[in-house]
Amino acid sequence: MQKWRIGDVTVTKIVELEATGGTRFILPQATPDAVLGMHWMKPHFMDDNGKLKMSIHALVIEAPGRRIIVDTCLGNDKQGRNVPTWNNLQGTFLQDLAAAGFARESIDTVLCTHLHVDHVGWNTMRVDGKWVPTFPKARYLMARTEFEFWNAGGTEGEQPLEFVDSVKPVFDAGLVDLIDTDARICDQVRLVPTVGHTPGHVSIAISSQGQEALITGDFCHHPCQMAMPEWAATVDYDQKQSTKTRREVFGRLAGTPTLVIGTHFAGATAGRVVRDGDAFRLEV
Ligand SMILES: [Zn+2]
Repeated sequence: MQKWRIGDVTVTKIVELEATGGTRFILPQATPDAVLGMHWMKPHFMDDNGKLKMSIHALVIEAPGRRIIVDTCLGNDKQGRNVPTWNNLQGTFLQDLAAAGFARESIDTVLCTHLHVDHVGWNTMRVDGKWVPTFPKARYLMARTEFEFWNAGGTEGEQPLEFVDSVKPVFDAGLVDLIDTDARICDQVRLVPTVGHTPGHVSIAISSQGQEALITGDFCHHPCQMAMPEWAATVDYDQKQSTKTRREVFGRLAGTPTLVIGTHFAGATAGRVVRDGDAFRLEV
């Protein structure tokens, strides 16, 4: 179990899936030849053959009086996903969450950095053939611009399946609060707009007792994008903007003690951004 302390705040990682290789569809430029020279990525973020490691996990933020789950992975029993292995999962995520001390009824806030399929899955679970809120006592917080984009059908003009089975049911249950992309969640936690990956994408800044952390969301999928900020993900809605966001945010973080906690970073998952030539790398 990986945990990080930021002053009075604790962040705990709950893994749903980990994979090595198979990242070609998301970061096509990050071929083994292109990344093998990035020695700092071994062993946490790539193997000896230059295959990238990635993770799908949730992060539970415990702040004084608050228990917030950030991004809810893929979920069990979901159908019609683009990636075949994401269909009809029967994983132990909820048991693992409870074993870590977070019964689902104890979560007071669900925070989605954006509304892609691997960030909303456990918003709901299937009970008697219906999708019901997994966290019945929580408010589900989503950026208004993000919700409105997908509610209107995104660029395709049709609501994606994950919106229908994992976002609509919690909205219809009256559990969603639509918020600004720079909203404050509590004294220690606030949103930071990091657009480009999706129209209303946010990262999450934690600040307590003089210590700082940033949960990335998907403005950066893998640490190799610190060395190559212009490697946009195929799933970035606006690749020019996502590249600009990566350069800006890494530039701001470089050389600071801010702990960067990656939403899809495997292994150590967190570290500090430092300058490396005219780009950056992650020091774990
Ligand atoms: Zn993602």
